[in-house]
Amino acid sequence: MKLNDLVDRVGQEFEQIYGRSPRWIVAAPGRVNVIGEHTDYNDGFVLPMAIDRYAVLAADSRTDGKNVIRFHDASGAEPAFINLSAPITPGTPKWANYPRGVIAGYLARGINPGGLDVLLHSTVPLGGGLSSSAALEVSTATLLENVTGKKLDPVEKALLCQKAEHDFAGVPCGIMDQFISVMGQENHLLLLDCRSRKTQLVPMDDPAIGLFIVNSNVRHELGNSEYAKRRAQCESAAKILGVPSLRDATAVDLENARSKMSDVVFRRARHVISEIERTIHAAEGLRASNWTTVGQLMYASHRSLRDDYEVSCRELDAIVEISESIGIKGGIYGCRMTGGGFGGCTVALVKTEAVPGISKKMAEDYKAKTGIDASMFVTRPASGAVILKSRRAQSQPLQPGRTGWDEEEQLRSGPVARFRGRGPSIAEACSHVPGGLHPRMIGQDNFAFAGHFFQRHRLGSVSPRRHHHAKNTLVN
Ligand code: ADP
Ligand code: MG
Repeated sequence: MKLNDLVDRVGQEFEQIYGRSPRWIVAAPGRVNVIGEHTDYNDGFVLPMAIDRYAVLAADSRTDGKNVIRFHDASGAEPAFINLSAPITPGTPKWANYPRGVIAGYLARGINPGGLDVLLHSTVPLGGGLSSSAALEVSTATLLENVTGKKLDPVEKALLCQKAEHDFAGVPCGIMDQFISVMGQENHLLLLDCRSRKTQLVPMDDPAIGLFIVNSNVRHELGNSEYAKRRAQCESAAKILGVPSLRDATAVDLENARSKMSDVVFRRARHVISEIERTIHAAEGLRASNWTTVGQLMYASHRSLRDDYEVSCRELDAIVEISESIGIKGGIYGCRMTGGGFGGCTVALVKTEAVPGISKKMAEDYKAKTGIDASMFVTRPASGAVILKSRRAQSQPLQPGRTGWDEEEQLRSGPVARFRGRGPSIAEACSHVPGGLHPRMIGQDNFAFAGHFFQRHRLGSVSPRRHHHAKNTLVN
């Protein structure tokens, strides 16, 4: 489903649940890492892109004034209630720990959205290695920024979301998922230096080329313990090489030290060092639209992950073998496992026009080889977190009778205090009112903004058209 259609759908779902239309809609994407696997915790490079699968959040302020964020999930997960008046801690339902952690991070920075009604609808497959978790965190962060009008720097926003995943979901993830979900841009990949946290957008704007993602639909449970082992092996290799991390070693350094380490540690380090190089080359290849080179680097990455790093599995290998058999003639330049390994997804660089044929062959051959049904889709590099609907006042100063700003929020929610910090103080605004106005009179029927005093019409239950009318009849 395209993002625009998804937005309409989520708006309708929100209305069904809460009985009114949402005031804000935001979205944040899942991601696929095109190349650069198991390099992040070695201070290396990764090259992810946002995929056309999003966690969408629709929201409105609560109508009952409760200081609670109520989260419904369109897929039917148990709803969550996050009380903003008490310290926020991990709890149940567990899925809400991702938003809880993000909300806690914003509250700690003095950014408080107040009570909200929220609906989550995500098209990122859960637990498939496409980072539905980061999509959920970053969409929550984007919602809070939209509601409050206060924005963090993108790096701080991404790090806040990563911390939420560490502290509230107990997942010691790196920075990639949150960085790409925040900073992704349409038609671009993101080359991320996991040491300096510097990012570079890498253009890939040829619509004839896409990324084809196949979910093996298996997850072998050795992931966590094997992950810890790999990290320890990398640290031990770096120590033997006398460098702070494997980022600082070359293939020659490693070869020279081969006799000082076990074969396993040698192979782990060989994967990391070669993968960091491949990632940089792949970024160059993408910039030059050199699809064959990028495809070869992806196959090489897979072999290295399979043989040296030993984090692949039979099912992922099967998808890569099928891709090789389809070949460039059939529309596939290269393919590799993506994510931590032991199941999850593969990513392939493909000719978009060949996707129907590729999908058919992949589904048939994978089923024949493994007995499992794979799921698959093609995507182009998509946009990072976006605000899709916002009915807040615009940032330009208001003028009486001026259109182009949106007072629905003011008309409905009333409290003038919402505007503090954007206009002059209420007292000052009141002093501009001919004849004077005591600040206490500001409230239900009047409000002040940007040095002007506005009188609110009693609208009762209002339609947008009547809002529009009200907008033009504001009095100074
Ligand atoms: P991945 O990020 O690869 O999809 P994770 O295990 O990191 O896998 O995150 C998946 C978890 O994120 C789910 O188990 C669930 O707790 C949470 N989650 C993400 N999106 C949703 C959603 N739309 N509804 C409910 N839970 C979600
Ligand atoms: Mg995740």
